[in-house]
Amino acid sequence: MKILLLAGDGIGPEIMAEAEKVLMALNLPVTLDRGLVGGVAYAATGHPLPPETVEKARASDAVLFGAVGDFRYDHVERHLRPEQAILGIRTALGLFANLRPAQVFSGLEEHSALRPEVAAAIDLLIVRELNGDVYFGDKGMRQTADGQREGYDVMSYSENEVRRIAHVAFRAAQGRQKRLCSVDKANVLETSQLWRDVMIEVSAEYPDVELTHMYVDNAAMQLVRNPGQFDVIVTGNLFGDILSDQASMCVGSIGLLASASLGEGKLGLYEPIHGSAPDIAGKGIANPLAMILSLAMLLRHSGGDEASAARIEAAVAKVLASGARGADLGGDMSTSALGDAVVAAL
Ligand code: NAD
Repeated sequence: MKILLLAGDGIGPEIMAEAEKVLMALNLPVTLDRGLVGGVAYAATGHPLPPETVEKARASDAVLFGAVGDFRYDHVERHLRPEQAILGIRTALGLFANLRPAQVFSGLEEHSALRPEVAAAIDLLIVRELNGDVYFGDKGMRQTADGQREGYDVMSYSENEVRRIAHVAFRAAQGRQKRLCSVDKANVLETSQLWRDVMIEVSAEYPDVELTHMYVDNAAMQLVRNPGQFDVIVTGNLFGDILSDQASMCVGSIGLLASASLGEGKLGLYEPIHGSAPDIAGKGIANPLAMILSLAMLLRHSGGDEASAARIEAAVAKVLASGARGADLGGDMSTSALGDAVVAAL
């Protein structure tokens, strides 16, 4: 398996080093390549996503991505800002499905924004469509007949866009508890009615998965009332943007949350959901666990290596259950000490 490592900016290189340690400890038949992305790429080449990086990514089976963002480049034109690299690489690789697991590790219940007994039950996966919906429809400013300014953004999904994300979600559910909840607003939106119809059509191909539907307003409520009821949630770009951030805050620390962006083939991009954390960069106190858990997702989804993925996740759970904590969780363990602890637990 060929893996491209894109460490990026801020804490990216620090946490990437720990993921590499874990990968080396597993002793798998992988070849590694490295590339530039974000502010470091802009400084070296004049672009946050140089063509060479895209070529390397296309020639790989998976991309492990740290974080991008550097306030020194806040003044440059928008399309050259470091953060544009993540949007650009997802588009260049045709990645349309974003997977975000949210799980409360044993011992961290008190760190959740929810009551510990409610938080303890969280073990869900949100599958969000990335390339369609109101973010990509026709948009603009116009004038109403009586001369007022009017902004508009068209929400739309084609059935093929819904069908391909449905397959990703049903397959993800097959690998978990086989329960898929499709979140929409079909009582009001035509887009959502099509979404729901296509989900039902695709469900015929996955008789082992139980499909349910929930309106997005109810889903937002249920995520804080009783999040333990969910296994896999599939939803569109706009609703997924909001619900996945809501779910992440139920977990404890942003330094624990991994994500995957997938397309039609096995090539995927894996990254922590947090940014480059410039406030703590270079101090050796960043939590590397989200990065390490992103590696586990990479091995599962692009490598088809469920056993290694599960080993990493079990090692992280063991480390946290033992009371090991970095600064983000009120402890004093350094980035590298946490990485070493995961390797020891493996
Ligand atoms: P951030 O996620 O970088 O940081 C938010 C807060 O969480 C900070 O206090 C930070 O110290 C803390 N934090 C984040 N990750 C942590 C970790 N692993 N361990 C311990 N603490 C951690 O968000 P921000 O501060 O809003 O943005 C910083 C930069 O990152 C900006 O340039 C932003 O555009 C960029 N960004 C990039 C991505 C990405 O690369 N996908 C995502 C979000 C933000």
